Amino acid sequence: MSLLFDRMVQGKNFMAAHVGKWEDLSQYKMTSPFKAYGKVFLKEELQCTGMEVSLNVFPAGASMPFHHKHKENEELYIFVKGEGQFQIDGETFEVREGTVIRVATEGVRTWRNHSSENLYFICIQAKANSLVTGMTEDGVVIDQPINWLEDEKS
Ligand code: ZN
Repeated sequence: MSLLFDRMVQGKNFMAAHVGKWEDLSQYKMTSPFKAYGKVFLKEELQCTGMEVSLNVFPAGASMPFHHKHKENEELYIFVKGEGQFQIDGETFEVREGTVIRVATEGVRTWRNHSSENLYFICIQAKANSLVTGMTEDGVVIDQPINWLEDEKS
Protein backbone atom coordinates (compact mmCIF):
# COMPACT_ATOMS: atom_id res chain seq x y z
CA MET A 1 0.00 0.00 0.00
CA SER A 2 1.28 3.51 -0.55
CA LEU A 3 0.87 6.93 0.97
CA LEU A 4 -1.88 7.60 -1.54
CA PHE A 5 -4.22 5.32 0.35
CA ASP A 6 -6.18 7.47 2.74
CA ARG A 7 -8.78 5.70 4.83
CA MET A 8 -11.11 8.58 5.38
CA VAL A 9 -14.00 7.34 7.43
CA GLN A 10 -15.27 4.13 8.92
CA GLY A 11 -18.32 3.11 10.87
CA LYS A 12 -19.97 0.00 12.22
CA ASN A 13 -21.19 -0.94 8.74
CA PHE A 14 -18.77 0.68 6.35
CA MET A 15 -15.21 1.65 5.47
CA ALA A 16 -14.43 4.41 2.97
CA ALA A 17 -11.09 5.51 1.55
CA HIS A 18 -9.48 7.59 -1.14
CA VAL A 19 -6.97 5.70 -3.26
CA GLY A 20 -5.94 8.71 -5.32
CA LYS A 21 -6.59 9.66 -8.92
CA TRP A 22 -6.64 6.99 -11.61
CA GLU A 23 -3.57 8.51 -13.29
CA ASP A 24 -1.65 8.25 -9.99
CA LEU A 25 -2.34 4.54 -9.44
CA SER A 26 1.06 3.64 -10.88
CA GLN A 27 2.53 4.70 -7.52
CA TYR A 28 1.06 1.56 -5.94
CA LYS A 29 3.46 -1.36 -5.89
CA MET A 30 3.17 -4.98 -4.84
CA THR A 31 6.08 -7.38 -4.51
CA SER A 32 4.49 -10.71 -3.62
CA PRO A 33 3.65 -13.19 -5.08
CA PHE A 34 4.84 -11.25 -8.11
CA LYS A 35 6.04 -7.71 -8.72
CA ALA A 36 3.43 -5.32 -10.06
CA TYR A 37 3.05 -1.60 -10.31
CA GLY A 38 -0.17 0.28 -10.64
CA LYS A 39 -2.30 -2.29 -8.86
CA VAL A 40 -4.11 -1.68 -5.60
CA PHE A 41 -6.15 -4.39 -3.87
CA LEU A 42 -9.01 -3.26 -1.65
CA LYS A 43 -10.16 -6.36 0.26
CA GLU A 44 -7.94 -6.02 3.30
CA GLU A 45 -8.01 -2.25 3.55
CA LEU A 46 -11.78 -2.12 3.26
CA GLN A 47 -12.35 -5.46 5.06
CA CYS A 48 -14.43 -6.92 2.22
CA THR A 49 -15.87 -10.33 3.09
CA GLY A 50 -17.28 -11.59 -0.19
CA MET A 51 -15.07 -10.14 -2.89
CA GLU A 52 -11.63 -8.92 -3.78
CA VAL A 53 -11.34 -5.79 -5.89
CA SER A 54 -8.30 -4.29 -7.55
CA LEU A 55 -7.90 -0.97 -9.32
CA ASN A 56 -5.33 -1.16 -12.09
CA VAL A 57 -3.35 1.02 -14.43
CA PHE A 58 -1.51 -0.92 -17.12
CA PRO A 59 1.07 1.17 -18.96
CA ALA A 60 1.39 1.69 -22.70
CA GLY A 61 3.31 -1.14 -24.35
CA ALA A 62 3.07 -3.51 -21.36
CA SER A 63 2.11 -7.18 -21.53
CA MET A 64 1.31 -9.52 -18.65
CA PRO A 65 4.32 -11.86 -18.40
CA PHE A 66 2.17 -14.93 -17.70
CA HIS A 67 -1.27 -16.49 -18.12
CA HIS A 68 -3.35 -17.24 -15.05
CA LYS A 69 -6.54 -18.90 -13.93
CA HIS A 70 -8.24 -19.18 -10.56
CA LYS A 71 -8.98 -21.94 -8.07
CA GLU A 72 -12.36 -20.72 -6.76
CA ASN A 73 -13.05 -17.15 -7.85
CA GLU A 74 -14.56 -15.92 -11.06
CA GLU A 75 -13.38 -12.50 -12.18
CA LEU A 76 -15.09 -9.47 -13.64
CA TYR A 77 -12.88 -7.01 -15.53
CA ILE A 78 -14.34 -3.55 -16.09
CA PHE A 79 -12.33 -1.37 -18.46
CA VAL A 80 -12.72 2.31 -17.67
CA LYS A 81 -10.21 4.03 -19.95
CA GLY A 82 -7.70 3.22 -22.67
CA GLU A 83 -7.37 0.32 -25.12
CA GLY A 84 -5.75 -3.07 -25.11
CA GLN A 85 -6.21 -6.74 -25.87
CA PHE A 86 -7.42 -9.60 -23.72
CA GLN A 87 -6.85 -13.28 -24.37
CA ILE A 88 -8.87 -16.12 -22.83
CA ASP A 89 -8.23 -19.77 -23.72
CA GLY A 90 -6.27 -18.59 -26.75
CA GLU A 91 -9.04 -16.31 -28.05
CA THR A 92 -7.94 -12.68 -28.43
CA PHE A 93 -10.17 -9.62 -28.54
CA GLU A 94 -9.95 -5.86 -28.17
CA VAL A 95 -10.89 -4.11 -24.93
CA ARG A 96 -11.58 -0.43 -24.33
CA GLU A 97 -13.57 1.90 -22.11
CA GLY A 98 -16.90 0.21 -21.49
CA THR A 99 -15.72 -3.36 -22.07
CA VAL A 100 -16.76 -5.77 -19.30
CA ILE A 101 -15.56 -9.39 -19.15
CA ARG A 102 -16.50 -12.20 -16.80
CA VAL A 103 -13.95 -14.98 -16.72
CA ALA A 104 -14.81 -18.35 -15.15
CA THR A 105 -12.28 -19.92 -12.79
CA GLU A 106 -10.83 -22.22 -15.45
CA GLY A 107 -10.41 -19.53 -18.12
CA VAL A 108 -6.71 -19.12 -18.93
CA ARG A 109 -6.29 -15.37 -19.29
CA THR A 110 -3.74 -12.70 -20.05
CA TRP A 111 -3.76 -9.19 -21.49
CA ARG A 112 -1.63 -6.50 -23.01
CA ASN A 113 -1.68 -2.81 -23.71
CA HIS A 114 -0.41 -2.37 -27.26
CA SER A 115 -1.61 1.24 -27.40
CA SER A 116 0.27 4.45 -26.61
CA GLU A 117 -1.90 5.38 -23.60
CA ASN A 118 -2.44 3.84 -20.17
CA LEU A 119 -5.15 1.20 -19.83
CA TYR A 120 -7.30 1.48 -16.69
CA PHE A 121 -9.49 -1.28 -15.32
CA ILE A 122 -11.18 -2.65 -12.23
CA CYS A 123 -11.05 -6.35 -11.43
CA ILE A 124 -13.57 -7.91 -9.05
CA GLN A 125 -13.09 -11.46 -7.77
CA ALA A 126 -15.91 -13.35 -6.10
CA LYS A 127 -16.42 -17.02 -5.32
CA ALA A 128 -17.98 -18.74 -8.31
CA ASN A 129 -21.61 -19.83 -7.86
CA SER A 130 -21.91 -17.98 -4.55
CA LEU A 131 -24.47 -15.38 -5.61
CA VAL A 132 -28.00 -16.21 -4.45
CA THR A 133 -29.84 -13.19 -5.85
CA GLY A 134 -29.02 -10.47 -8.36
CA MET A 135 -30.15 -7.13 -9.76
CA THR A 136 -32.19 -5.40 -7.01
CA GLU A 137 -33.55 -8.56 -5.37
CA ASP A 138 -31.19 -8.36 -2.38
CA GLY A 139 -31.91 -4.70 -1.63
CA VAL A 140 -34.44 -3.66 1.01
CA VAL A 141 -35.93 -0.15 1.00
CA ILE A 142 -35.73 1.46 4.46
CA ASP A 143 -38.56 3.81 5.32
CA GLN A 144 -36.81 6.66 7.13
CA PRO A 145 -36.25 10.33 6.32
CA ILE A 146 -33.09 11.34 4.45
CA ASN A 147 -31.20 14.09 6.26
CA TRP A 148 -28.04 15.69 4.87
CA LEU A 149 -25.79 17.96 6.89
CA GLU A 150 -25.54 21.50 5.55
CA ASP A 151 -22.74 21.81 2.99
CA GLU A 152 -19.75 23.15 4.94
CA LYS A 153 -18.30 24.82 1.84
CA SER A 154 -21.26 27.13 1.29
ZN1 ZN B 1 -6.99 -13.21 -11.54
